[in-house]
Amino acid sequence: MLSFLSVDQLSQQPLSATYDAALVAASYLVAAVAAFSGLRLARYAEHDGTYNWRWLFVGALTMGFGVWSMHFIGMLAFKLPIPVSYSSSLTALSVVPAIVGCMAGLALLRKDLPLRDDVRRLIAGTIIGAGIGAMHYIGMAAMRMNAALFYDQTWFILSIAVAVVLGVVGVYAEKLREFEATSWAALPFQIASAAILGLSIAGMHYVAMQAAICIPTLGSGAYVAGIISPLVLAANVSGASILIALLGLVAIKVDAKMRHAQKHARLTEERMYAAIESISDGFLLFDENGKLLLHNGVFAQMYPSLQDLLVEGVTYEEILRGWAEGRETFPEGLDRETYIRKCLEAFESRRAPLSQSDEDQLFDGRWAVVRQSPVKVGGMVSVWHDVTAIKKQQDIYRELALTDGLTKLPNRTAFTQRLDDAIKRNKRADKKVALMFIDLDKFKPVNDKYGHDAGDHVLVTISERLSRMIRETDMAARIGGDEFVVILEQVSDSGDIETIAEKILAGIREPILFNGIDCSVGGSIGIAVNPDHAVDTDDLMKAADEAMYEVKESGRNNYRIFSGVPGKQAAAAC
Ligand code: GH3
Ligand code: MG
Repeated sequence: MLSFLSVDQLSQQPLSATYDAALVAASYLVAAVAAFSGLRLARYAEHDGTYNWRWLFVGALTMGFGVWSMHFIGMLAFKLPIPVSYSSSLTALSVVPAIVGCMAGLALLRKDLPLRDDVRRLIAGTIIGAGIGAMHYIGMAAMRMNAALFYDQTWFILSIAVAVVLGVVGVYAEKLREFEATSWAALPFQIASAAILGLSIAGMHYVAMQAAICIPTLGSGAYVAGIISPLVLAANVSGASILIALLGLVAIKVDAKMRHAQKHARLTEERMYAAIESISDGFLLFDENGKLLLHNGVFAQMYPSLQDLLVEGVTYEEILRGWAEGRETFPEGLDRETYIRKCLEAFESRRAPLSQSDEDQLFDGRWAVVRQSPVKVGGMVSVWHDVTAIKKQQDIYRELALTDGLTKLPNRTAFTQRLDDAIKRNKRADKKVALMFIDLDKFKPVNDKYGHDAGDHVLVTISERLSRMIRETDMAARIGGDEFVVILEQVSDSGDIETIAEKILAGIREPILFNGIDCSVGGSIGIAVNPDHAVDTDDLMKAADEAMYEVKESGRNNYRIFSGVPGKQAAAAC
């Protein structure tokens, strides 16, 4: 393929060649831009820690094609006085060593290779130089003309030396260890490196052309120069290869932006997960199709029975049904199926589902309130707030509001509520409710003689006795100073009531000692029965009160069942 001949061996005058300066300049530009793009792409392959071979491949293609284009333009710049055409197969084949050489050379520039920098730069530069050389001489062999092609050995060796030496220098200029490959600071060095590599590529070509000796022959081949002007062809090839190189650079930018966006999205997602995990509420997020998107550990802790359900793709309905399974009653007095249906309808129509303030008792006794809100872009978010502490506090306040501070018996408010309930309940069961109104006799003198503490002691003692004497289903309450009431449910006849009244009177009368002093008191009890004497709470109270005053008037320390006209207690009291 290569025939060497020295000038003094020539028997015939070789053809003298001229160069088109503009095309020479264009060929250098193409080589430098291709080298720059190839370097950037190869560097980009390793920019985020893992080596991505695809970028190296694109880089090698860009650089190899650029080198080949440079050669092609260089050939067009080379003008012989005879027509020249090119074998298309060899011309096409010549691109292969260019690409392979660039690929191997660029691969060796990888930062993390376990090779000394000097060694691999030397090898990389040599391989790139060799690839360029092989491409050039294959490309030369593609020339078809009525002339024999010989090479001058010295120039030939020099051409290879230029390719390799400038290739190595170019690779050195990149200072790859000192910078982040894709950083702006690396840019001047990459430009310098590309300029030198461009020189290596173009320099090799033109020195090699110097080695070429064309001896005219009387061949029969009718070689005609292409009908397309070399200038137009060169412009197209330069444009195309520069475009490819630029596209490679744009691809890096686009890829970097996409990676950045992906990284940003991933970080946002991770932050969102962390935020959701850090809240103390149970959290569920559903998409517009009702599929579970996110949940947090707090929810899983609140509902361990639903834990197996909490997988990707589970639906709002499945979770709702799983939750409903463990419940007896449902908000707004609905049955299970109706409640589920209404929740699903609400979800479909993007309304807040029911039960915004419904309290749900968890497996471990805690209480949670769920708040569900539709999401603007579709779907729904469910937040389960632990209200155990609030509920406990409420229970304490409720207890305080319904209890008498001194005796710990239910107070007037609790008593009124209970009497209301008892009347309704017993009415349904066709039973009677008896109300005993008890006022202690001569209690004030205890206070006056022995002090308020003695009086308090009496009140507390009587309260304890009352609580002990009644059934669990009945109720004793303190409704005022020395006033107590007892509600007896499900009474059948007045005999029973009288027995209890006597028992209570006896209990009150029992001795009460305070600091060794006898503080005993008696009691007057007025009794009224629902529905015999009154149908509602107020009237029943008035009737019992009236009966109690009658006892007081008739000498105290006794009980009396209301004997007035039913429903006329107010008038009788006047
Ligand atoms: P009567 O036989 O007519 O019922 O007269 P009484 O002495 O029992 O006096 P009355 O029922 O009219 O008055 C109740 C007294 O109870 C008046 C008040 O000084 C006293 N008292 C009210 N609340 C308390 C309390 O919390 N502790 C004590 N120690 N005394 C109270
Ligand atoms: Mg009294």
